[in-house]
Amino acid sequence: MLAAIAEVPRWRFVPAESRAEAWADRALPIAAGQTISQPYMVALMTQELVLVGTETVLEIGTGSGYQAAILSRLCRRVVTIERIPELSLGAKQVLESLGCTNVECLIGDGSLGCAEQAPFDRIIVTAGAPKVPPQLCEQLEFGGRLVIPTGTHQPQMLQVVMHTAQGIVTTDVCPCSFVPLIGAAAWSE
Ligand code: SAM
Repeated sequence: MLAAIAEVPRWRFVPAESRAEAWADRALPIAAGQTISQPYMVALMTQELVLVGTETVLEIGTGSGYQAAILSRLCRRVVTIERIPELSLGAKQVLESLGCTNVECLIGDGSLGCAEQAPFDRIIVTAGAPKVPPQLCEQLEFGGRLVIPTGTHQPQMLQVVMHTAQGIVTTDVCPCSFVPLIGAAAWSE
């Protein structure tokens, strides 16, 4: 995971005016009032997915595409959903230019997951939800892991949801702060 972080040029995913700060360990603004997550948080969430390389991962909240680029090096396939078309199209361009051929960028409400392509081995949500959307649990493969910030608008708790033989088991990781997940199974606009 650290090798993936070292390889992916974060500066390619931030606006020109923020490039000098691209390696700062903090979230930075991107278009449409959204953010590219702090590198530490990208690393932590990726680590909590426990990837071995064979997985299909659903990401909700493409944003700049940076997290998807990290995932693309560590799993078989990434499906990433973004609700703001401008961001999705921008991310797609950068991901293609970096040769991330195993990433599919979709535009839509990711709070409902992606039923057409379910189940997923792993799901990562990079925006804060009021609670875990039940649709995402339903789309998680047996043995799979879902990493998601849940709670109030600010802050949230990073949670790992596992689909086990005993059912759905949720554990807290740490407090965190993300822009809101907006959609039918999340916050209203
Ligand atoms: N993973 C991103 C990256 O690497 O740059 C950072 C994501 S940013 C913190 C959260 C993103 O979630 C925003 O781009 C926002 O538009 C998106 N988002 C919010 N609600 C969404 C939804 N229901 N479906 C898909 N994307 C959503």
